[in-house]
Amino acid sequence: MRNPYELNRKYNLKFKLNRKEISKGGAFVPVFNGKLFPGKERILLAGDAANLVDPFTGEGIYFAALSGIKAAELLLNSKTPLTDYEKFLNKNFLSDFRWSNFLRHLFFAFKKPFFKGMEKSEALLKIATDIISGNVCYKEAFKRFVIKSTLLPARFLNVTGVNKAGKREKSKGFSSLDI
Ligand SMILES: Cc1cc2nc3c(=O)[nH]c(=O)nc-3n(C[C@H](O)[C@H](O)[C@H](O)COP(=O)(O)OP(=O)(O)OC[C@H]3O[C@@H](n4cnc5c(N)ncnc54)[C@H](O)[C@@H]3O)c2cc1C
Repeated sequence: MRNPYELNRKYNLKFKLNRKEISKGGAFVPVFNGKLFPGKERILLAGDAANLVDPFTGEGIYFAALSGIKAAELLLNSKTPLTDYEKFLNKNFLSDFRWSNFLRHLFFAFKKPFFKGMEKSEALLKIATDIISGNVCYKEAFKRFVIKSTLLPARFLNVTGVNKAGKREKSKGFSSLDI
């Protein structure tokens, strides 16, 4: 990726904008790290306070809104708001966030091969875009990824000389059987 500070400086120069350069810095995002914090007694925690930030994408607005609404509803209507809220969090977020956390570690440990894979494989790119756009849950994405990965060697044999029936096609390229 090109340097954003340089791009910003050139943009300001080009359009004669007398604005400050974009500031460098960061902000703490309490991404889920294995535990959710529902609260205590009649104090329910929502959003960031409950650790409800998707560890893979860093998104937390949706979860903050949803958990906030549910917490308010339960405090008004339930006799056991904390227990019910804990159940709601566990049922709706815990499993997917655990998968997300697992995939985050996997992704960042093998970032380069993943990016290379996405450049080369339409299927891998589709899995990544489906995750980001929320079309697929993390568990399903992982399943698809494993299936695609195990199919890769089979595809290698296929394009390089072995057909689907497992028969060698002499006219077609090289095969691992040639080695
Ligand atoms: C740089 C950055 C980029 C992000 N990008 C995205 C994104 O693209 N998409 C996405 O979904 N999420 C994103 N997030 C995460 C998202 O912003 C948060 O997960 C979400 O806003 C959490 O909402 P919240 O209501 O729990 O907390 P907040 O939005 O932090 O609200 C808490 C509020 O409580 C106030 N407050 C704190 N202490 C006190 C006090 N003692 N008394 C009174 N008020 C108090 C704060 O001032 C604040 O207004 C990003 C976060 C950061 C930092």
